[in-house]
Amino acid sequence: MINPFETAIKQLEEASQIANLDKNKIERLKNPDRYVEVSIPVVMDSGKLQIFIGFRSQHNNIRGPYKGGIRYHQDVNLDEVKALSFWMTFKNAVIGVPFGGGKGGIIVNPKELSTTELEKLSRGWVQKMYRILGPEVDVPAPDVNTTGQIMDWMADEYKNLTNDPKSQAVFTGKPLGCGGSEGREEATGFGGFYVFEEAAKKFNLSARATIAVQGFGNVATFFIKIAIEKGYKVVAVSDSKGGVVNMAGLDLSRLQEHKKQTGALKDFPDAKNITNEELLELDVDALVPAALENVLTGDNAGRIKARLILELANGPTTKEADKIFQEKNIPVIPDILANSGGVCVSFYEWYQNMKHETWSKEQVLGKLEKQIKKAFADVSSIREKYKTTFRNGAYILAAQRIMEKM
Ligand code: NAD
Repeated sequence: MINPFETAIKQLEEASQIANLDKNKIERLKNPDRYVEVSIPVVMDSGKLQIFIGFRSQHNNIRGPYKGGIRYHQDVNLDEVKALSFWMTFKNAVIGVPFGGGKGGIIVNPKELSTTELEKLSRGWVQKMYRILGPEVDVPAPDVNTTGQIMDWMADEYKNLTNDPKSQAVFTGKPLGCGGSEGREEATGFGGFYVFEEAAKKFNLSARATIAVQGFGNVATFFIKIAIEKGYKVVAVSDSKGGVVNMAGLDLSRLQEHKKQTGALKDFPDAKNITNEELLELDVDALVPAALENVLTGDNAGRIKARLILELANGPTTKEADKIFQEKNIPVIPDILANSGGVCVSFYEWYQNMKHETWSKEQVLGKLEKQIKKAFADVSSIREKYKTTFRNGAYILAAQRIMEKM
């Protein structure tokens, strides 16, 4: 079993050796400031009490409040949450927003809960955590299986408990009418595409390049939407039940309709069913993992045929796979750059809440495009300076920005 926190530490160590970074400061960054595990009792609809386990890891707040999502999944564990909080610290530094890194989770399959149970569980997480949260302390957001509705329940519970007049700003990713920002829904997928466009230029991908996307959630679907609009061919997609491929290109709204009607992507008309493993190994120009971590490993990296990898999921590539991609000369645009559009717009949401401002979607997406393309350029120049990978370039840039403040 691959420990994502160990992967994260190894990534930092490699970058720090390349740029000869201060060893004491690096040592400090290898350890989260604090992590907590709590039990959350919920009276289920049946009347029976069930205990759930929740986490929050606060990695570093040297550049601003801890910031990062809350994940609901049956496999969530402390090492995963620690790794994700670590990546948030670096991601926020790469994209240049004044936040540190945090991440949370609850061990649960939310699909097995009723809406009432889900609300009680979400409010329960806040009841156990509110003392370590705050608009200028720690600002959570949605992640896998958590939604704007959940953020709204959580912000409401925080307000009930603290009476803080800035309570709206303590959670981002809220629905539009509840203090959410225009463009937040699109932010990670669109931000990923803006980065992809820059990378495609750099590596001369054709305007009709083929793309395979693993995942079909929030991040994947908005990436697919804009990629197709801009003329790229998305030829394969998948969800947890498997994927479909058609090398002539897929139609997003028809895929969404099929998934809505059947509950899965498989058996989509005019396409061939494939497994998630087969999707990763397709002969495409670009591969975009946008689901879970550790899907590109030492076992399958040798068989990957894509000419460019864009990490929209957090931590999809293991250290062993990274090495193989480097040897095969396949550029990997790392998660801490490629998926930083989400937290960038989370910062815009937080800022609007704190200042009582409301920005239009055009303003939000325009600012995002500018900011994330600048981050790509910053990472590219560090990569060129040290003649290294994009991942090392991003880590070096982020570590330098964090250390400056230490
Ligand atoms: P989501 O819950 O909306 O979608 C997750 C997708 O992954 C679903 O399509 C699901 O079917 C698929 N999936 C689940 N298990 C799978 C499996 N075993 N194999 C293949 N697919 C599987 O989540 P999301 O918000 O789209 O997040 C996706 C990834 O992007 C995660 O790694 C998340 O941490 C990362 N991320 C999300 C954001 C954001 O703003 N939502 C920001 C940065 C990073």
